Amino acid sequence: MSTLNYLFASSLIHYDKFFLELNRFFRLRLAHSYVNEHCFDVVVVGGGIVGSATARQLLLNRPGLRMAILEKENELGMHQTGHNSGVIHAGIYYKPGSLKAKLCVEGSQMAYKYCDDKKIPYKRVGKLIVACNALEVERLNELYDRSLKNQVQGVKLLQSIEQIQAIEPKCVGLAAIWSPNTGIVDWGQVNRSYGKDFEQKGGKIFNQFQVIKFELKTKSSDNDSDNNYPIIISSKNGQQIRSKYVITAAGLYADKVAQLTNGKKIPKIVPFRGEYLVLRKESSDMVKTNIYPVPDPRFPFLGVHFTPRMDGSIWVGPNAVLAFKREGYRYRDFNLMEFIETATFPGFLRLSFRYFFAGIDEMYRSLSVNAQLKKLQRFVPSITKDDIDLTKHVAGVRAQALDENGNLVDDFVFEFDANSGRVMHVRNAPSPAATSSLAIARVIAERAEQEFKL
Ligand SMILES: Cc1cc2nc3c(=O)[nH]c(=O)nc-3n(C[C@H](O)[C@H](O)[C@H](O)COP(=O)(O)OP(=O)(O)OC[C@H]3O[C@@H](n4cnc5c(N)ncnc54)[C@H](O)[C@@H]3O)c2cc1C
Repeated sequence: MSTLNYLFASSLIHYDKFFLELNRFFRLRLAHSYVNEHCFDVVVVGGGIVGSATARQLLLNRPGLRMAILEKENELGMHQTGHNSGVIHAGIYYKPGSLKAKLCVEGSQMAYKYCDDKKIPYKRVGKLIVACNALEVERLNELYDRSLKNQVQGVKLLQSIEQIQAIEPKCVGLAAIWSPNTGIVDWGQVNRSYGKDFEQKGGKIFNQFQVIKFELKTKSSDNDSDNNYPIIISSKNGQQIRSKYVITAAGLYADKVAQLTNGKKIPKIVPFRGEYLVLRKESSDMVKTNIYPVPDPRFPFLGVHFTPRMDGSIWVGPNAVLAFKREGYRYRDFNLMEFIETATFPGFLRLSFRYFFAGIDEMYRSLSVNAQLKKLQRFVPSITKDDIDLTKHVAGVRAQALDENGNLVDDFVFEFDANSGRVMHVRNAPSPAATSSLAIARVIAERAEQEFKL
């Protein structure tokens, strides 16, 4: 009897042990799969071309790093990257020595090589920057000097209408810069390709993950996740991801996302919509190359241009009008809170007062095709309303960074959160950030490796 009792008791003890072990095993498996699916070394917020290129570059530099991209839309590149002129800029305009100049010249060469490697179609259609009066000729000469200082390859100064028309027969002007290495590409396609590279290297992309909160856990001895992955990132629809480090590149929401981790309020993003007209199919052979005006140094991002597209169409524009919503592509897109925030921002008010008439002119051209046509006829006098396909509406919204005094922030701005030592924000990635994306990614990835000690 006592032996039986002993056997019964010992089997219970063994069962007990067995179940304890089983329980431990499943808890470990669960914890392991939680870590596998929700915990990362570095998370990039924003799946536009800058965020995706950066994530890809970091994984190329540090294979084996556990990385994720969090993007609020269904796909990568749905905002500025998917709504732009599609130009591969050569680097002519930018102040010699600036990050913008260096990264554009380097980035355009990297972009061509990347497209060759990945067989992404592009066209080296070139670009004419055309001066139509004496003041513009003076500015054009300065621009030409800049292009030489920036070491842009192949640029030529054309000093007669005959030279201009040898390249673009319907174009008129007193002088022009010819840039044969300016090209066109679908930047949305390039963005998706960066995403594919990232996934092939083991990175994970979470679409429909709109980040609304970051929380930094302090060290606690009994929670491994808190200790190893102290940043908890929450989405609007209730998902959570943990990470050791975070890089944000949120484009039109760059300032908002930075403030979620107590980032600085300035630079503030003010959204300017750029609307394009599209030429009718029958008029699409009107021009073959990009035709740009000489920029006014006060408004470097303004200026209506002719841009051939990869699908064979020609876009003309854009103008620049205040968008009533950060991602508002039409006049009817309106977000009251966002509008009030912009309209009461002292930097925006100062900019509006300073350039009141330029703003009115942009709005007028937004509402009047004839007014926009007048600007275009300076360069191609034969263009008429009949050449425009009035059924087509295309627009992009530019994340224009402003300081408190209403100055346009012109160069790239990166902000590192020294308090936590774990977060880096891309606060301003202005045009030509698509062209420069691979070069920007190299800079950000190197900085992240240093600051995060990866
Ligand atoms: C009209 C126009 C024409 C241009 N033309 C050219 C050109 O011809 N050539 C050129 O090189 N450049 C051009 N640019 C500039 C270029 O498009 C941008 O500089 C570049 O696309 C910026 O990339 P990004 O990744 O910083 O921003 P975006 O492409 O805007 O990406 C930011 C991403 O962050 C996501 N996001 C935002 N908030 C959150 C959140 N809370 N949680 C998760 N995700 C979030 C957004 O959904 C978006 O996908 C142009 C821009 C405009 C607007």
